[in-house]
Amino acid sequence: MRPIDPATLAGQHFDTVVVGSGFGAAFFVHKLLERRPGRVLIVEWGRHHPHDWQVAHGMNSALSADRTYRSDSAKSWHYTVALGGGTNCWFGQAPRFHPSDFKLRSRYGVGNDWPIDYDELEPYYGEAEAIMAISGDPDMTAIFPRSTPYPQPPHHLTTPDRIMKKAQPEAHFAMPTARARVATEQRPACCASFTCQRCPADAKFTANNGLMPTFGDERVTVALQSKALRYEGAGNSIGALVFEHAGKPYRVTGDLFVLGANAIQSPAILQRSSMGGGLTGKGLHESLGTHVEVLLDGMNGFDGSTITTGLNFGLYDGGHRSEYGAALVYFENRWTHGLRAEKGRWRQSVPLMIVTEDLLEDRNHVTVDGKGEAVVTFVAPSDYAERGQVEGLRQAAPTARTAPGRGHRLPLAAADRVASSGHVADGRGPGDVGDRLPDDPSPLAQPGRGRQLGLPDMFLRQSQPHGRRTVAARGGNGLKMVGSCTEHWDVARRNP
Ligand SMILES: Cc1cc2nc3c(=O)[nH]c(=O)nc-3n(C[C@H](O)[C@H](O)[C@H](O)COP(=O)(O)OP(=O)(O)OC[C@H]3O[C@@H](n4cnc5c(N)ncnc54)[C@H](O)[C@@H]3O)c2cc1C
Ligand code: SF4
Repeated sequence: MRPIDPATLAGQHFDTVVVGSGFGAAFFVHKLLERRPGRVLIVEWGRHHPHDWQVAHGMNSALSADRTYRSDSAKSWHYTVALGGGTNCWFGQAPRFHPSDFKLRSRYGVGNDWPIDYDELEPYYGEAEAIMAISGDPDMTAIFPRSTPYPQPPHHLTTPDRIMKKAQPEAHFAMPTARARVATEQRPACCASFTCQRCPADAKFTANNGLMPTFGDERVTVALQSKALRYEGAGNSIGALVFEHAGKPYRVTGDLFVLGANAIQSPAILQRSSMGGGLTGKGLHESLGTHVEVLLDGMNGFDGSTITTGLNFGLYDGGHRSEYGAALVYFENRWTHGLRAEKGRWRQSVPLMIVTEDLLEDRNHVTVDGKGEAVVTFVAPSDYAERGQVEGLRQAAPTARTAPGRGHRLPLAAADRVASSGHVADGRGPGDVGDRLPDDPSPLAQPGRGRQLGLPDMFLRQSQPHGRRTVAARGGNGLKMVGSCTEHWDVARRNP
């Protein structure tokens, strides 16, 4: 890559001027170079932090995201301001959109339809997955038709995943991921060390290990530490970009302008350019997630080959999406809740993450202040998303006696082998279910009652990672679960 002194760009003309170098912008430039001749300028606010720098400093960027926007709401928004944007910090979970995600309005009467559908996007998914060497489960083709195979074989499932897959072959799959299952020329295989935000092994796809040839292409110029301020019009179109470097503004002209900052900074740039109004900046959202732990009896977890091994679509698509959000259930291979303390049982659990989609609501939006800085107003996720969490929690209560495949339930089917009621109070301190249900009027909140009441031999406990909002759900089997919704990184992917 040839970084340039941004001051020398003043007054220059480029065929294409791109703002940002994260997922959106970098993959766009990669494809553009195949199709369109001409010089490309990438204007990037952050610096270039190579992998070694990130691991040594324990951060993805020297410029933390919370210094790049203002907000009065308690919720924080996470992203990386640096060359490669979110490719640096992401965890490498790489499922595609469900075909129904593109047709939410016409199929379920909520949200919006996309202007394109799954089939049109499919070949491009394949190309992006090839660039990232995605590891995936060929069985997923049943839900996600594909014209090319996954570039890498699936990761090894955990024992509970294998049981789920046998019980629900149509809904349970190995998680598609950019954490290498087998070594590539640039990356070693993932060794399940569980710090994927900065993978010490460099096994996860990032711009640093996968896109440097794009940034280094002889047609591409990269201006680092250059913050896009605003576009200037030329008649009915855009004619120039003004960016700031070392406190001074510079202006470049171009034929094609590409805006690939992120969901907060892109609308801020448009509003600084007097191109706001309408829906610009409105509908900021991300999916909601709740951590749940399933306690097992006589079966060990944590024997998979990466951090998240299973992905369950049993609660995802269907008529319920008219009423509440689809839920994806991640089966984790990391000890989010710690290992169990009882002798001989330390691996007998499965952490789950229940993630639901959100709808775009105008009340959650981005504006700019008098100085032109981005201001985030986030009131709350939609009721649709909250209901999705409640239902997801209720229905994901593993009902070991439910026949596999019936309804939306997750049949963690090893009825004789999973959890006993004795786990409810197992002395693990604040993480214990009993401690998590202080207001629970249900007798189930009391340790040891599950089996007496003839309930499934399995219990859930939930963590409260951000302790922000509480959702309570009562399962059809009477099991009450209390947990907090927490912001999840897997943002803005369920609805356009
Ligand atoms: C910790 C974490 C884990 C995640 N894990 C996953 C995952 O496993 N799977 C998944 O699908 N998604 C994951 N995501 C979400 C994913 O990273 C984002 O959805 C994705 O990065 C969005 O792409 P983008 O191109 O819109 O923005 P970004 O990737 O954020 O790129 C925006 C770029 O624009 C630059 N920029 C911003 N403002 C300006 C400006 N004014 N001038 C110039 N440049 C500017 C930024 O520096 C950055 O390079 C994760 C996110 C986080 C924070
Ligand atoms: S699990 Fe470990 S080796 Fe695998 S991608 Fe994450 S940090 Fe890297």
